[in-house]
Amino acid sequence: MSCVFCDIANGRAPAAVEYEDDRVVAFNDINPAAPVHILIVPKKHIPTIADVSEEDEPLIGHLIRIARKLASERRLEGYKLIFNSGEKGGQIIFHLHLHLLGGWDRKPSTVSI
Ligand code: 5GP
Ligand code: ZN
Repeated sequence: MSCVFCDIANGRAPAAVEYEDDRVVAFNDINPAAPVHILIVPKKHIPTIADVSEEDEPLIGHLIRIARKLASERRLEGYKLIFNSGEKGGQIIFHLHLHLLGGWDRKPSTVSI
């Protein structure tokens, strides 16, 4: 089964990569919903938060740590971290990803992603 985020993680599809290590790739969202909108994506194909096993829990912590690092490098004073989970949670790409959103001048009234 083809998966666009696996393709990006494997270098088979292009993306504006902001960070990469052995477990994670982070790249700019193609349709940004904020001045800074980066997706932090595990290289392991996990469809949704509901599919995260106990052994994957350190990987979820790692995603959050990388989001913090990217936010700090961009001097974001505040930001949102979002996992959309399941179709009714607004998830479109069924390869787990953490949205990092920020860069607004003031608190945003709503963010829809
Ligand atoms: P979801 O709704 O599944 O949480 O979010 C998927 C996100 O992936 C959306 O914000 C969408 O703009 C982004 N996206 C979808 N396809 C691509 C792609 O091929 N490249 C990049 N960089 N972002 C994508
Ligand atoms: Zn995948």
